[in-house]
Amino acid sequence: MIISKNKVKELIFPINFLWGSATAAHQVEGNNTNNNWWEWEQEGGHIADGSVSGIACDQYNRFKDDIQLMKELGHQCYRFSLEWSRIEPKNGYFDANAIDHYRDILTTLIENDITPMVTLHHFTNPIWLQKMGAWENPEIIDLFERYTIHVAEELGDLIPFWNTINEPMVVALLGYLLGTHPPNKQDMGTFGKVAVNLLKSHGKAYNAIHRTVKSAKRPQVGIVHNVVAFEPYNPNSAGDKRETKFRDQTFNWWILDSIESGIIKAPFGKNEAEDYLKNSSDFIGMNYYFRFLMKEGTFNLIPGPGEKNDMGNEIYPEGLFNLLVSAKKYNKPIYITENGICTSDDRRRCKFILQHLMATHRALQQGVDVKGYIYWSTLDNFEWAEGFAMRFGLVEMNYDTLERIPRPSAYLYRDIIQKNRITKEMQDQYLE
Ligand code: BGC
Repeated sequence: MIISKNKVKELIFPINFLWGSATAAHQVEGNNTNNNWWEWEQEGGHIADGSVSGIACDQYNRFKDDIQLMKELGHQCYRFSLEWSRIEPKNGYFDANAIDHYRDILTTLIENDITPMVTLHHFTNPIWLQKMGAWENPEIIDLFERYTIHVAEELGDLIPFWNTINEPMVVALLGYLLGTHPPNKQDMGTFGKVAVNLLKSHGKAYNAIHRTVKSAKRPQVGIVHNVVAFEPYNPNSAGDKRETKFRDQTFNWWILDSIESGIIKAPFGKNEAEDYLKNSSDFIGMNYYFRFLMKEGTFNLIPGPGEKNDMGNEIYPEGLFNLLVSAKKYNKPIYITENGICTSDDRRRCKFILQHLMATHRALQQGVDVKGYIYWSTLDNFEWAEGFAMRFGLVEMNYDTLERIPRPSAYLYRDIIQKNRITKEMQDQYLE
């Protein structure tokens, strides 16, 4: 989006717009020795920079300091995940100490006026579950429901926002089709089967939370879904447009259409009706990062021509606007549950945040019910198959000393939050 200086104006966000940041357990806690990612890391050869998650940011022990820092940085919401392998280290055995730990985090957040948004599953599985086939085994649907009920019983009084599963399509794609995440499979049939098991698990968990939690204020429960801006490589090619439509429909909208209708749609389902699934998301959690161009007959995802992040993905704020407008059809509140850039140049992060918030603001003006924006990530962390080299944080991590150093972008973000707007000065400073 190119904005000339003489066109800039102040952009005000709605009252009660929720501003926050996010992490996930395995990426920040440290010593998550009992999950499939830890095991995979130990095999060697899978993580681009050769690192292992190890102690990560040691947030398991330092969460009080991190929450204090979030408060100083003006965050109103913290999206984080519970580590299933800590809560249920063995099949059917629940660890009360792990629950106490997460209760402590939730209480500390609430005492500091930071709204918790809790993800039940963010990429990792307990080892015992992985041995059973995890997402390939339909038994996982009941097992995930049992874990969810336990969390809802033990912690439900403290959780206003629930995310069932983080990015189900990414779990299926990277783990079972592209094979860049564990269990490292590349099989189209398994990919589809896994996508259906993830979808069903979401639906059952949604209902379990509402059945179990009896707080005065009804908790808000939603799926968190990664959307990608797919566009044709050649906008004049009918084939490229067909390919784009197919990818857009299967990756971006299949899961949300199935949740809305309660029908597991093709191509992964056989249009079977599942009552519990219907309308099983109080809001849509949308994670957005980049655009890919589609060429007929090519399986590969081709990054667009624009500026890239350090992972080589194209930065494309217009994609966020388009996807938000497309998601309006579901008539659900939308939280941008992740959006961020990995870069070693923090000025680019400032520009990224402004551009994506401007795209969000335009969507709001088009009547899209965006309720909040959650930057990924609060602090640098273990970026899965990329390791520690990729830096997404508002706060820089010194991994030698575990010191946290807020970047200029953290202060820009604080300013945006405090003013609940993007000012002309901010645009003048960071946008060319
Ligand atoms: C995931 C995060 C990840 C981020 C940046 C999202 O797909 O939910 O765990 O760190 O992207 O790549």
